[in-house]
Amino acid sequence: MSNSQLTPGIVPARLPAASYEANFADHEPPLDRHEAQVAADRCYFCHDAPCMTACPTSIDIPLFIRQIATGTPDAAAKTILSQNIMGGMCARVCPTETLCEEVCVREVAEGKPVEIGRLQRYATDTLMAKGVHPFTRAAATGKRVAVVGAGPSGLACAHRLAMKGHEVTVFERRPKAGGLNEYGIATYKSTNDFAAREVDWLLKIGGITVKTGVTLGKDVALADLLADYDAVFLGIGLAGVNALRAAGEDLAGVENAVDFIAGLRQAGDRSTVAVGRDVVVIGGGMTAVDAAVQSKLLGAENVTIVYRRGKEKMSASGYEQEHATQTGVRIIYGAAPVKVTGGARAEAVQFAYTEDSPDGLKLLDEGFTLKADQVFKAIGQTLAGVPEGLTVAAGKLPRHPAPKLWCGGDCAEGGEDLTVTAVAEGRDAAEEIHAALTGAAG
Ligand SMILES: Cc1cc2nc3c(=O)[nH]c(=O)nc-3n(C[C@H](O)[C@H](O)[C@H](O)COP(=O)(O)OP(=O)(O)OC[C@H]3O[C@@H](n4cnc5c(N)ncnc54)[C@H](O)[C@@H]3O)c2cc1C
Ligand code: SF4
Repeated sequence: MSNSQLTPGIVPARLPAASYEANFADHEPPLDRHEAQVAADRCYFCHDAPCMTACPTSIDIPLFIRQIATGTPDAAAKTILSQNIMGGMCARVCPTETLCEEVCVREVAEGKPVEIGRLQRYATDTLMAKGVHPFTRAAATGKRVAVVGAGPSGLACAHRLAMKGHEVTVFERRPKAGGLNEYGIATYKSTNDFAAREVDWLLKIGGITVKTGVTLGKDVALADLLADYDAVFLGIGLAGVNALRAAGEDLAGVENAVDFIAGLRQAGDRSTVAVGRDVVVIGGGMTAVDAAVQSKLLGAENVTIVYRRGKEKMSASGYEQEHATQTGVRIIYGAAPVKVTGGARAEAVQFAYTEDSPDGLKLLDEGFTLKADQVFKAIGQTLAGVPEGLTVAAGKLPRHPAPKLWCGGDCAEGGEDLTVTAVAEGRDAAEEIHAALTGAAG
């Protein structure tokens, strides 16, 4: 007998086969040529454009939109990619509603911004569809750089270094390159294997060797990399997950949201991914929203996100929260888990309401219980093991902890944990490494 939304427990194939393709289709369909022209014509091509200042990679947004408006999307793509080599992925995943589009003068005046993200996607997709790589390498410098981690920060760093003529080796512990672009980003934001296609396209620059299945601290030591290479960049992300610190956390059915998302991302056939009937997600960021929305899209009957503080404190943007609720996810604010109850498996979660006080968050005596056969922990990621010889401050690595060593992306101090920030930090570290290796300015 096949499963349905009402089947108890954590089971696959809750939906008719045809529903999966529809549910996991492109969240925001691409603009066609005419739509892109119309969207580009809304731009005022502002002087001192606020959208450009809000972009962590400082893309010249009015310039690339003008290039689209004048019918030269390939030139627009080059404008974007010269600042952000993962402009294709960022066009799909950037929370533009809290970055460039939030400050767009048309958003401020009319509540309807220029669709910068979708225009960026139009330009980069147009160029990438031709298989064209728009950059070439400078003359070989004879310098060798090791990059650890093939996520957005590591790949952006590797690409910029390769462009400058250095030889780069990227060490990645997972079987595939891409970092969270490949294993984390919601399936409906990056469809048709885009993460892998973008990596292949990026590597066309040449001069980059990617070694997968190699873990720093196990297969290779930081001291050896520092001895063997002229410089080392660490872009190892945050591979650990914070504990719930509630009783019953070890019960079967209590899982890390990032592992569930990675499993879904890698599943060829989505109907094989098991999901609960009553899913409770604990957390307030993009990971919580993505786990919840995708549980719903897999056919869970009831999905609830519970966040310990108020709506405005949630790190998932208002747009993302709305997307979750429109998909049928319920969000409860101001409550924290006290206990996961059940026999061998999770059956329910007890919550206490919370109150912000000058001494921090207080648990109140009042509370409620939610039925749950699957509980996702989405309360933040942490560094999984500090590379030998390094010290962390507030859970992050310093940017330049030793003479030949740089760090960037989620694992490093400063900046928001976003794809676009990771790209900016990898690129900027590459510029610093290049300057250190060659004595060149910038
Ligand atoms: C579920 C989820 C959804 C997200 N959605 C969005 C979104 O929609 N938009 C957005 O802007 N941001 C999103 N983010 C954040 C974004 O994915 C990250 O900020 C970004 O990927 C950070 O890039 P990074 O290169 O620093 O790290 P990562 O992408 O984590 O890459 C680090 C790489 O290093 C490798 N590595 C780790 N340790 C070692 C080691 N010891 N040896 C060798 N290799 C190692 C890892 O396997 C990984 O490939 C999301 C994050 C999560 C978890
Ligand atoms: S702020 Fe808006 S209108 Fe002005 S340049 Fe940027 S996208 Fe165009």
